[in-house]
Amino acid sequence: MTKSFSIAYLILSLRYIIIAGIAFLIFYIIKPKRFSRLHIQQAFPKNKDYWREIGYSFLSFFFFAGYVILLFKTPVRQYTRIYDHVSQMGWPYFFFSIFLCLVIHDTYFYWTHRLMHHPKLFKAFHLLHHKSTNPSPWAAFSFQPTESIVEGGIAVAIVFLIPIQRYAFLTFFIFSTAYNVYGHLGYEIYPKWLIRSRIGKYLNTSIAHNMHHKYFNGNYSFYTRIWDMLMGTMHPDYDKTVDKVLTEEPAETAYA
Ligand SMILES: [Zn+2]
Ligand SMILES: [Zn+2]
Repeated sequence: MTKSFSIAYLILSLRYIIIAGIAFLIFYIIKPKRFSRLHIQQAFPKNKDYWREIGYSFLSFFFFAGYVILLFKTPVRQYTRIYDHVSQMGWPYFFFSIFLCLVIHDTYFYWTHRLMHHPKLFKAFHLLHHKSTNPSPWAAFSFQPTESIVEGGIAVAIVFLIPIQRYAFLTFFIFSTAYNVYGHLGYEIYPKWLIRSRIGKYLNTSIAHNMHHKYFNGNYSFYTRIWDMLMGTMHPDYDKTVDKVLTEEPAETAYA
């Protein structure tokens, strides 16, 4: 059990170090000037912000690894819908199940996130994540323990709701991490035409989540903005900010 826990913790840590690390390396160390036009906020986070985000992310992985062990390696597994071989459900379902994971997570994230913003719950669950008012890629899993338990709960929801094979689960979590890092990137990498397109307008953007960190209210979504649009919780300045950030001018003047 200890060995399985260590392996799960290692995999969770590696996916974070690799994905957030590559983003940080490119946008914050090697080429910050080249991408300055796409920078969402004028200032950069401080070193102490990076270390807080990294430290709490590694703390979160203890809770996430706990969920993995509970669901995959204890008798709880027999009550879940986890299956072993892709052939049991076929490849089309394997890929469809990844899509279903994203739909479930999009809904789970929006509603738990909104709940954690309730004044009675905010401090106890979500305050730490909002210490990053100008988030960096390292903020992706910067949660206090109570929020880590809520965020990791998505794994429970998935394995009880839909048949899922472990590699489909892993693929979903890698994609989820990449989108999470994108949301906290501090730069908008989607082109304006995509954000404004008929289908692309439903995608959640780094600008939207960055605004959530800056203003605290509105823009609660993860992958898509569908729940925010349906519930009328988009920040009123979202479209204006997209226009401001994604102009040809340097970020300093575009976001002054
Ligand atoms: Zn929040
Ligand atoms: Zn965030």
